[in-house]
Amino acid sequence: MTPRPFIVAIDGPAGAGKSTAARRIASRLGFALVDTGAIYRSVALAASREGIAFDDDARLGALLPRLTIRFEPLPSGGQRVLLSGEDVSSAIRTPPMSLGASAVSARPVVRAGLLELQRRLATAPENRGAVLEGRDIGTVVFPDADAKFFLTASPEVRARRRFEELRQKGDPQTYEQVLADQRKRDRDDSSRAVAPLVPAPDAQQLDTSGMDLDAVVAALAAAVEDRLSRRAGRR
Ligand code: C5P
Repeated sequence: MTPRPFIVAIDGPAGAGKSTAARRIASRLGFALVDTGAIYRSVALAASREGIAFDDDARLGALLPRLTIRFEPLPSGGQRVLLSGEDVSSAIRTPPMSLGASAVSARPVVRAGLLELQRRLATAPENRGAVLEGRDIGTVVFPDADAKFFLTASPEVRARRRFEELRQKGDPQTYEQVLADQRKRDRDDSSRAVAPLVPAPDAQQLDTSGMDLDAVVAALAAAVEDRLSRRAGRR
């Protein structure tokens, strides 16, 4: 039997450095990249366009099967997010969609409806491996992942990183607004009943507050390469 692709799970709160680390590790190893936050954001965008309240379980449940969400790699590295064929990469990265994603992701109907999609994207037959970033990859989506990481950083450092990112895109939000939104999302993500943001017991935890992203990537890549060579040795 062909073994399933090698799965790397990177979980943690917003601004901990997951996206950059996931993107660079995926590109270094030639693995697929599955940004699960982008999937929840796409659902929030589709719901808001159709006037569906973020807590309307019946309509959210009916919306999900009508959506196709996929990723398309870009020659420059990174990837585009396609929602029913439309490039929504920028539209999903606004502050309202951050809060919208957090709201829809607390609904069990949405989490259950997206589970198979996340697993399918990661284990597609053409993938040698996949890096998934999110909140519950190591606990729920792939509890048997080959390498699990939980990245954290202080709330102030995380909000500062996000603020700089938004500022470069011309977003007028102040640092204080970014910090307040982030605190709300952290609280909601950690306290929800289904798949709350908690580290898997076997995840390697890393506080990235005082680290630059090159150092974060180097630490994760070394651990992944070690697991990869051990798995190859077992064959
Ligand atoms: O990672 P990102 O900030 O794009 O995620 C947006 C929101 O989607 C998070 O605040 C969280 O509420 C939700 N999410 C989740 N589970 C995941 C990924 C994201 O609940 N695996």
